[in-house]
Amino acid sequence: MLPVPLLIALILAFGIDPPRAGTPIPDAGLRVLQTCGGISVVAVLSFGFALWIASQVSQGATPPSRVRRRHIRGVQVLTLISLLVYGWIIHSVGWGRIVRANWGLGRLGVLNDAIVFLPFAVIQVVVWWGQFVADRAFQRGVERLPAARLGRYLLLRSRQSLGLMMPVILLLVIRRDILARFWPHWDELPVAGPIEVALLGGLVLAAPLFVRCAWPTRSLPAGPLRRRLERAARRAGFRFRDILLWDTGNSVLNACVTGVLPGFRYVLLTDALVDTMTPVEVAAVFGHEIGHIAHRHLLYFGFFFAGSLAFITLLTACVAAGLSWLSNVPGVPVWAAQAIGGDVGQEVLILVLAGVYFWLVFGHLSRRFERQADVFGSKVVSCDHPDCPPHVDIEMDSPSMTFRGRLPLCPGGLRTFSEALAIVAQCNNMELRRRSWRHGSIASRILFLQQLENDPRREGGFQREMTILRGVLGLILVLALCASGLLQWYGR
Ligand SMILES: [Zn+2]
Ligand SMILES: [Zn+2]
Repeated sequence: MLPVPLLIALILAFGIDPPRAGTPIPDAGLRVLQTCGGISVVAVLSFGFALWIASQVSQGATPPSRVRRRHIRGVQVLTLISLLVYGWIIHSVGWGRIVRANWGLGRLGVLNDAIVFLPFAVIQVVVWWGQFVADRAFQRGVERLPAARLGRYLLLRSRQSLGLMMPVILLLVIRRDILARFWPHWDELPVAGPIEVALLGGLVLAAPLFVRCAWPTRSLPAGPLRRRLERAARRAGFRFRDILLWDTGNSVLNACVTGVLPGFRYVLLTDALVDTMTPVEVAAVFGHEIGHIAHRHLLYFGFFFAGSLAFITLLTACVAAGLSWLSNVPGVPVWAAQAIGGDVGQEVLILVLAGVYFWLVFGHLSRRFERQADVFGSKVVSCDHPDCPPHVDIEMDSPSMTFRGRLPLCPGGLRTFSEALAIVAQCNNMELRRRSWRHGSIASRILFLQQLENDPRREGGFQREMTILRGVLGLILVLALCASGLLQWYGR
């Protein structure tokens, strides 16, 4: 969900200062043309690719699964190209300098930034437009979803990315424009660092409010579905602020939960999800989301990132020490010693190691957490009949039933959840077997639920494995936090 390309574009535009940013640049007219040229190249690629995909879908000669794979890969390549083109526009063409120095808009603050960012905004819209054309071609095959309209689709995509980035942008503006204007020596104050961190923490905790403002949502209307979900939440002991219906123009079938604190906690269900699935299936997906909270996954991720930063700090120290030792080993050629002892070599090695660490550890943890949430979702729609199947819908059978904190898990509940997963895959044009770094493939998740269905006693073993995984990883991260704290203390 996190708009990574937008984040990278923001860093490209405002994180790295181009050389001589304050002096006007010669032949600005030609450079404006170059900027437009760069955007046009992305536009041609985006629409060309989308039309090619659409024609492949309509011809039907290639299997749809292969076309979908091509589409996903093509969009990834297009995203990469857009970032390269924008990087070129900023750092080689000098768009930021033209806006700031040639046109003298530097004193306009946020407005200047908006114009510096404009080329990327246009590029992004062009890429989304292409995606819309291709998505619609796929959707014609899926009758369950009504066709989405372009204007709404674009508005939705921009609100989604901007909404999540709002806290970051806000902090940037406060820090650079407001503080610098009214408090020029802010940076030199000793309390500046802690106050900024506290501000960022506050923004993260209040982030669900941004999500509410940025995404078009409304409270799920009172009725049988809402009653069912509220009762399911009560059975699971889950507290929240509201259940929101998330208007995506019927283009996305998804759900999510935001907020660590119950007062800021919302469960979002998209319009397509509520329209397409049966109430029991919606309850199963809702159960998956509350499972993330019940098992404290969001909190654990927060701790994981803090601990991982400490871990990477340690890694940096180790790499620096290791490389400087290596460059002093007798017999190492001078050029090699300079390469490994230099800053660039160190930075590249640390970046690669940190990337591998996140890819392996975070990916594994995230996929395990998804499974745990899947099991929880199955429990929310499980019955307590010892001889299930035949399975009974608990909402019809005994709606006000409570299980005193321990939810049952039955084969019927597991089956319901698997079916809901299959619908999510079908309606979102996802292939069952396609591996996802953060979620695992839908096929592997369904297979796991089937194994539990055949032998529900395996659930105990799975939960024990999860406890051990969290405990061991937690211990390592706490040790890393302590060690990096000590390192900082003695390093002073
Ligand atoms: Zn999940
Ligand atoms: Zn059952």
